[in-house]
Amino acid sequence: MHVRGRCASRDAAEITVPTGDQSPTDAVINPPLDLVDSHAHLDFAQFDADRDEMLTRARKVGVKTILAIGIGEGPHQLRAALPFAEKYDWIYASIGIHPDAAHQASPAHFDEMRELARHPKVIAWGEIGLDYHYDEPPREVQQRVFRRQVELAREAELPIIIHCRDAWDDCLPILEEMWKPTGIGGILHCFTGTEQHARRGLDMGFLVSFAGNLTYPKSGALRQVAAKLPLDQMLIETDSPFLSPQGRRGKRNEPAFVLEVAHALASVRNLAVDEAATATSANFRRLFGMSASMSPEDSS
Ligand SMILES: [Zn+2]
Repeated sequence: MHVRGRCASRDAAEITVPTGDQSPTDAVINPPLDLVDSHAHLDFAQFDADRDEMLTRARKVGVKTILAIGIGEGPHQLRAALPFAEKYDWIYASIGIHPDAAHQASPAHFDEMRELARHPKVIAWGEIGLDYHYDEPPREVQQRVFRRQVELAREAELPIIIHCRDAWDDCLPILEEMWKPTGIGGILHCFTGTEQHARRGLDMGFLVSFAGNLTYPKSGALRQVAAKLPLDQMLIETDSPFLSPQGRRGKRNEPAFVLEVAHALASVRNLAVDEAATATSANFRRLFGMSASMSPEDSS
């Protein structure tokens, strides 16, 4: 299910924007950047052969924090992100059932998540939402499981991470009805919508997170959205191991490449890369009530 269900780059006008041709993992970054990868699937098998080295490469380019997404390969793996959060003080975890797996969700899974939500390193609920790119699971099943998790996240007072693909007309009204009144906010992950969609999210306290598709030649419309939204309401992410930036497409993605997303955002905003990195990292910490010192530099 995770081969599909990734966010699609928009079919938009071809506008090429330079996105940093450096080789970020080899370059010596001085002074080190302050980067946060707000969305990575560290548990996936694509990292089995070199997971430690992959995390070391992320630290080398300046990744101070990763939010490890805990959807696993389905609801039988709700603890998927916890081992990383428990091993590394700079990695945090989410829990949730992805819309692609909604048909597998059972009451026992909801009970388990309610339990896991109390774990001190679980800081978010997601990724949850709606994905209408394929015809399954049925939309009503996705909506039921989405709504149930929104209720549970509200009860746990955890920000939610939204996966929405080709489903904005259903997803935003559900959030406006059920989530906006909580004031808890969250993340519109791997954003691919329009400026209007983004602004409806911002009005509810969501941050808009941009991924590697921001670097794609065909993502002109998405870059225009990234150019217009308030800088203090944006995040960057990799969605590793998926969605590699341009130049690495077709290959595995990893958290170190969040630097390339930072370059892309910096380019559309006319900022230096360290400014884009610092701003998005501050936004992440503000959403989750973290201080910069909660992203320690000297651990590995
Ligand atoms: Zn994801």
